[in-house]
Amino acid sequence: MEKEFAIIEMLGGVYEDLDIDKIEERFVRLVGDVFNFDRVALLFLKHRKELLHGKLSRGFDPSIIKKTSIPIKSDSSLVKPLVTGAPVRIAPDSHDLSIRRLGLTHSVLVPIVNKKSIPCWEIKNCNAPDCPAYGKKWLRCWLVPGTKCGNSLISEWGTQNKSAECSGCPIHEAFNIEAVEGVLVADNSVSKRPITDETAALLSIISHIVGMAINNCKVYTKTLDVATKDPLTGLHNRRFFDARLIDEVERAGRYGSGLSLIMCDIDHFKRINDNYGHPVGDNVLWFVANILRKNLRKTDVLARYGGEEFAALLINTEYEQAFSIAEKLRCSIENGLFRHLDGCLKVTLSFGVSILGNGSLTSEALIRSADTALYKAKTQGRNRVCAP
Ligand code: GH3
Ligand code: MG
Ligand code: MG
Repeated sequence: MEKEFAIIEMLGGVYEDLDIDKIEERFVRLVGDVFNFDRVALLFLKHRKELLHGKLSRGFDPSIIKKTSIPIKSDSSLVKPLVTGAPVRIAPDSHDLSIRRLGLTHSVLVPIVNKKSIPCWEIKNCNAPDCPAYGKKWLRCWLVPGTKCGNSLISEWGTQNKSAECSGCPIHEAFNIEAVEGVLVADNSVSKRPITDETAALLSIISHIVGMAINNCKVYTKTLDVATKDPLTGLHNRRFFDARLIDEVERAGRYGSGLSLIMCDIDHFKRINDNYGHPVGDNVLWFVANILRKNLRKTDVLARYGGEEFAALLINTEYEQAFSIAEKLRCSIENGLFRHLDGCLKVTLSFGVSILGNGSLTSEALIRSADTALYKAKTQGRNRVCAP
């Protein structure tokens, strides 16, 4: 039962983690420890799914795995599981260069499928209760021998090679490159221990479950980005900023730590739009955002607060320090020339700095105070940093 428990633990974990790297690490550990393989590697599709890249491994020389990059259109055996959707066994005498480079003689290559699994017997309205796949969600005819498809008995393992037998099958037709994430290499070439069909089938099912968890993570990350990021600059949006501001004000109040706010706004931005057009204006926003991002710490919260206005919340930062950071930001933007098709453009920003305390005890007061300071910077001639 120990192996079953370890598998259940791992699969439970992959759905709790919303971190792709952690899921992949768990997966490699499971295949190495629980299935006791000599070496394990994970390769994933990159560059619009045109290349299969090595990412994570155990037992292999990591640099060889990381250097592995194979076009999906090549005839390498490593990409075969992605094309067929079925596990591929490596022949001990394979002449395939990519296989020889990894020293694979006793290995199985398993596709990491991300598509939702629908029972084949349901889709095909099948009524063969004596088929091993009948009533099961994960089994496929190419994973276990003895399955029945229509009236024909599929006796061989790994027959899913788009043969005439399978063409027209809705399960097989639904398979395409979008349905796969990558390939698991499970290898016993050192010990030469044989890999049973049962192990290969089990690894295929687990890889499918892991592939769906990876896909869920990607969807979650994308959704989170849409909800919290500004698409033009890639900075956090106001919604995210406002929520963090409330949390950080609370935290700073509790621990008595310094919390400063910088609000800044591009000077005469309307003129840039009017003179050069909106697309150039958009690029200026991106240019400014990038300089702000580069000059702040990762722990600071930087957001596009409005049209051409940005806000930076500096954690654990006292007023003098915040003021000099704002001055550094101002100089970096003034000195960084923005290049466009017809030449260069000088961009400047005005800054207002405020700190929690000193009469600003709430998030609203902190914002109001920085806003007042920013207004002062504008009225005093722009391209400057002001206190309230
Ligand atoms: P000031 O120095 O007083 O801040 O002057 P300003 O021209 O920067 O300020 P104003 O508020 O008059 O104009 C802001 C302009 O920013 C108007 C608006 O069209 C432009 N803007 C806001 N969001 C975007 C955007 O996403 N892209 C572009 N290109 N322009 C934007
Ligand atoms: Mg402006
Ligand atoms: Mg403005």
